[in-house]
Amino acid sequence: MENYKKLQTHLDKMAALETALTMMNWDVETLAPRGGVERTAKMVGLLSSAYYEELVSPEVKALLNALAQPEEQKKLDDGQRAIVRTMKKDFDRMEKIPPEEYQAYSELTATSGTIWAEAREKKDFALFAPTLKKIVAYQKRFADYTRKQGQSRYDALLDQYEEGITTSQLDPFFAVVREAVVPLLKRIQQAGPVEKPWLGKKYPIETQREICRKLAEHIGFDFHRGVAAESAHPFTTELHKDDVRFTNHYFEQQPESAMFSAIHEGGHGIYEQNIADGLTQTPVGHGTSMGMHESQSRFYENVLGRSEAFWTPLWPMLQQAYPQQLEEVTLSQFIRGINLPEPSLIRTEADELTYPLHIMVRYEIEKMLMEDQITVEQLPQEWNRQYQEYLGLTPPDDGVGVLQDVHWSGGMFGYFPSYALGSAIAAQILAWLKTKVDVDQLLRSGDLAPIREILTEHIYRYGASRNTDQLLRGMTGEGFNAKYFIDYLTEKYEALYLQ
Ligand code: ZN
Repeated sequence: MENYKKLQTHLDKMAALETALTMMNWDVETLAPRGGVERTAKMVGLLSSAYYEELVSPEVKALLNALAQPEEQKKLDDGQRAIVRTMKKDFDRMEKIPPEEYQAYSELTATSGTIWAEAREKKDFALFAPTLKKIVAYQKRFADYTRKQGQSRYDALLDQYEEGITTSQLDPFFAVVREAVVPLLKRIQQAGPVEKPWLGKKYPIETQREICRKLAEHIGFDFHRGVAAESAHPFTTELHKDDVRFTNHYFEQQPESAMFSAIHEGGHGIYEQNIADGLTQTPVGHGTSMGMHESQSRFYENVLGRSEAFWTPLWPMLQQAYPQQLEEVTLSQFIRGINLPEPSLIRTEADELTYPLHIMVRYEIEKMLMEDQITVEQLPQEWNRQYQEYLGLTPPDDGVGVLQDVHWSGGMFGYFPSYALGSAIAAQILAWLKTKVDVDQLLRSGDLAPIREILTEHIYRYGASRNTDQLLRGMTGEGFNAKYFIDYLTEKYEALYLQ
């Protein structure tokens, strides 16, 4: 236990620094005056370096190597073993990258976001292309340094975000998604227009705030251990399991936007609030992966939150809150309206059905880039070609095309697939959950606690001590399977628009 105790002092310092950084970031995004952001950013930079130094110290490295030995492993509990394994994996990966290259890369990505933002604003890809070329070159080299024998570059990048997920799973996944979604979308579009009779009216922001709070509470977000604020884009963060925070953004004429953000971010929040006491504030004290996290936010937002059963107990509350605006709107009109698929150019505004197509385009392009099948200069052309082919739309400029997402400017290649995986995992979880409880009945009664308890037992409490594959197998008895997603989409959309 001696070695683990020593590691614990480092873990405590890291947790303290991380808490401070999270808090400062939250403040910058929500309340901090714009004029002060630059000075604060310098302090954030110093604290981040302190965190990094604590992590990569030679002492921590020696401790992790010692603790990885079989006789030491026997003395640890499951959570401690997971902490050692996770930290060692990151360490081993970092060690393969020459420090001076990583330093140069960090300097590059410290300013690349600003360059991207300017290029997007000016709708001019050429402004960003030289920077992106450098980032792509670094990412290729890093993947080459870290990939295992026989592993492709892109698989090495994917592994950083979703352990164990490979192109051999994603290729068939996106193929079946494409084969199912593209024709389904066409049939719905041919079936004729669907009204959204609540639009074109004003919904006071103060009322929207109250309703969003009620919705988050309804799904089980605990405001005694959580808080909500406002920011440009909704997000969720946490200091630890007992201080989980999310933000929202309100539009006076689109009340559904904030409502579904509240349910989405509330879903992320519920995950974090239900991590085991013994794991929170450790390197495995958060959701296991971006894919699993998105599976939970989307499970609440789309799978549960856009169903008629979910809204049945809530509809009277909504009509009371907006008596004039919703006077002539029926629940069934509302449900058909909020689910209506409409191909669009912007990923973040996409509906549940077309969303995976946006991800597929990015996935195909990232793979081509990493395997040298396309150059950075060819990106806009390839982007527009795929948008035309799958969504039937061509971006009028690069600002709403290839430049729309921030991810590549931060070197995040291999991250996008997690979003689509999240949607698919949510459908797989629903299929399994239905064998355990009457989901529809629970939603109609407004009692979501049994659902949350089951998800806590099988997913939340483990934090990142188990990966997505282990959680899915432990819960449903099988690994990731795209079939559930296709069945779910087909059944749902046919029932809503084609019957
Ligand atoms: Zn999310």
